[in-house]
Amino acid sequence: MKPYVMGIDFGSTTSKTVILDMDGGTVASAVSHKGSVSDEGAKASIAEALAIAGITQKQVIRAISTGYGRRMLEVSDKSYTEITCHARGAIAMVPEARMVIDIGGQDSKVIAIDALGLVSQFAMNDRCAAGTGKFLEALARAVGVPLEDMGPMALRAVEDITISSMCATFAETEVVALLAEGKSKTEVLGAVHAAIAARLVGLVSRVGKREPLVMTGGVAQNPAAVHHLEKALGLKLIIPQRPQIAGALGAALIALDEAREHAADAADEDDKVDASLDAARCGTPTCTAPQARVTEQVIHGPRPH
Ligand code: ADP
Repeated sequence: MKPYVMGIDFGSTTSKTVILDMDGGTVASAVSHKGSVSDEGAKASIAEALAIAGITQKQVIRAISTGYGRRMLEVSDKSYTEITCHARGAIAMVPEARMVIDIGGQDSKVIAIDALGLVSQFAMNDRCAAGTGKFLEALARAVGVPLEDMGPMALRAVEDITISSMCATFAETEVVALLAEGKSKTEVLGAVHAAIAARLVGLVSRVGKREPLVMTGGVAQNPAAVHHLEKALGLKLIIPQRPQIAGALGAALIALDEAREHAADAADEDDKVDASLDAARCGTPTCTAPQARVTEQVIHGPRPH
């Protein structure tokens, strides 16, 4: 029976699973649009990935979980923080990256990567919806536009409107007032994306802007979010082919390391990241991360010694 490893990112909004073979090749990935309220979404993404790979759970010799619900999964052998896994996955996707911006459903993170591919600093916002995918979801609902359409629509905005409230609830009130004033949905959505970009610029400045900068997470699939972030930061973002699975890929690569017994100290390093996560949350100073191991730079082929 051929062995495989698995990475599961049990996020607040979606669950993602990646399965790798023992050479590090991706054999399956799946995204389920259910968050961490229950483990239903995680189970669905695991089942889908197993079906795509055409294997059973018994063939998975190591499974690592990350994300909001990372400690809730029975199939997982160990869990790691989102910082460690997202950095690891992003570096595997874009080896030259020196900074990662990840905007998910309920948090946003900025991670600086040093020349060795190690996490050197990070900042995170997960205490308020501002600057997260939930902010965009709430305002798409307020405007009455499907989430998938809001980005392409916002890109057509020409007028410069400002939304001053960063709190999702107040911003929603402002959006409704703007629509009542006769502003078009397109212009209002343009302002919504400019507002989220402004929030992210603040998070980036806490760490210090670095390039090449890769964007991951579900919001990287929104072209207006990417456009406004590029404009606000004054640089081009690299968007990997499947930005939403970066965390699950990172978890799968750690599972591969552990299955090959090459990552004896990765868990210790991640414990230190975990301990400093609190300090890196909304409104608190930037955290200087311990040197979390994110050195795996290739998805295919054995890890160099
Ligand atoms: P988490 O890992 O926290 O569950 P994700 O990284 O999956 O979150 O990101 C979820 C967010 O991504 C949603 O809140 C939404 O804003 C955004 N998103 C997901 N799919 C799309 C899409 N097709 N188009 C635009 N935005 C999307």
